[in-house]
Amino acid sequence: MLSVADIRLFLFDMDGTLYLGDQLFPFTKELLATIREQGKRYLFMTNNSSKSVEDYVKKLARLGIEADGGDFITSAQATIHYLKNHHPDLRFYVGGTKSLLAEFAAAGLDVTDEREGQIDAVVLGFDTELTFRKLDDLSRLLRSDIPYIATHPDYVCPTEYGSVPDCGAVTEMLWYATGRRPVVVGKPEPLMPELAMEREGVSPAETLVTGDRLYTDIECGIRAGCKSLLVFSGETTREQYEAAERKPTFAAESCAELLAALKAL
Ligand SMILES: [Mg+2]
Repeated sequence: MLSVADIRLFLFDMDGTLYLGDQLFPFTKELLATIREQGKRYLFMTNNSSKSVEDYVKKLARLGIEADGGDFITSAQATIHYLKNHHPDLRFYVGGTKSLLAEFAAAGLDVTDEREGQIDAVVLGFDTELTFRKLDDLSRLLRSDIPYIATHPDYVCPTEYGSVPDCGAVTEMLWYATGRRPVVVGKPEPLMPELAMEREGVSPAETLVTGDRLYTDIECGIRAGCKSLLVFSGETTREQYEAAERKPTFAAESCAELLAALKAL
């Protein structure tokens, strides 16, 4: 039984949970409006570090959802937090999009995508502007024992025409070349929900992580000590859920059931 009386913060995966590709699910607008009307809070939580928060605001606007920058917690934001805490004052080579480099720079990090001068650490994002020159740079840099961080571990990113290689696929290429694996920041690691809960001043027991993937969204919720809701509107089948060792607190066909549970309060 999906019970949300105690929940004050809803952390939503987006693709497969609130929409599929460019198709908004029919219940999504009402779900978000209902959460707001009840004085609760929601944040969109995404691993995709190829897009900036501004890009996502525009994407949601195209789908008919009004959002602003404060409505997001992203793997890029969590990585900035991680780098400032664990590797202050380093110069980072970033294998990522121009927008990721700009976001890091705006947060006060010393970043470059040119392999020249002193480089103290390597950060890899979902680089939709990846070139062989960058792979060569990364391979050379990772020969020395410098810190190596990836924004998220996803192997593939879904598109309307199928999957394309994501950050985790590139870290595998670099593993073959260098034998190195990165420290990973995004889902399933718990840093994004931890930052969101700190920002909103709520406890794990008051937080529900909702998503369509067991090994990223749900595992992330479990590791952060939050409640979790798996929906079958995206990647995961009921059979996979039944077979899973680590199960979410709740499972539902879609977020339509979450809307119904909120309306029943
Ligand atoms: Mg998803």
